[in-house]
Amino acid sequence: MEEKDQFKKVITTLEKKSLKRKDFLRMTAVAGAALAVSNMPKIATASPAKDKSKHRYTMVIDLARCVGCEACTVACKVEHNVPVVSPKEFTNRIQWTEVFFKEKGGYPHVKIDLNPRPCMHCENPPCVPVCPVKATYQDKDRGLVLQHHERCTGVGNCLGACPYDARYFNWSKPDYGGRLRELALNPDPHPQVEKRRKGIAEKCTFCVERLDRLEAKAEKEGRGISDEDLHLVCTCVKTCMGRARHFGDLNDPNSTVSKLAGSARAFHMLEELGTQPKVIYLREA
Ligand code: SF4
Repeated sequence: MEEKDQFKKVITTLEKKSLKRKDFLRMTAVAGAALAVSNMPKIATASPAKDKSKHRYTMVIDLARCVGCEACTVACKVEHNVPVVSPKEFTNRIQWTEVFFKEKGGYPHVKIDLNPRPCMHCENPPCVPVCPVKATYQDKDRGLVLQHHERCTGVGNCLGACPYDARYFNWSKPDYGGRLRELALNPDPHPQVEKRRKGIAEKCTFCVERLDRLEAKAEKEGRGISDEDLHLVCTCVKTCMGRARHFGDLNDPNSTVSKLAGSARAFHMLEELGTQPKVIYLREA
């Protein structure tokens, strides 16, 4: 495909995306209302017979504890060298994790619905099969959806395929010189974090660079990885002052995420699509 056609395709996808974003907010608001009046089915936890992956890394987000401060968004940008754009360029923003706000009711009884949204790391991810160059792939042993950034050609199919709007097109050069934390820690930065090209699709990785470091450290020390270790992996989880976010292994029945997944408040966003998201929400009440 010629570069001009490729660019047109990306623009069309992004135009669709801006419609999709409104739909997404509407759908989540509807889902929230439905949840308030119905009992949701419980989330499936450890079932080794059905789930062959070694780990099923999962994030739980408690909507009752999120205060919408967006410390998670900022921490993620710092950790992963995600460009900051001016408010004027809002539609061109990249947020690997983002909090959506929706106002409900009229003055003086206004209520804000908060919807924090990283990538869902779907077990059945629509973004993977649509990639023509196999830049997006599943790390099946750990249940993560990751990306070879160097392979991405920016056609944008994944942006259109993701029902959660969790993929972003990178319009800026992600180059912050020596300020990158990963560079300060490691002269040979992790491929998921190093400087990426302008013009590719990006998304949350569940901080795989930190997970890899933890796994290597535990192996060197000849020990297993505890639930407490995993709680410190995702930078958004670690930074959340409301303790709204938790990270762990759903294949471990004793993990915090397994216990929270069993709550009557637990639900998956857009469960009916069959994507089997690995982000579990806890509704407010
Ligand atoms: Fe892919 Fe979107 Fe699912 Fe993430 S949330 S795995 S980007 S389809």
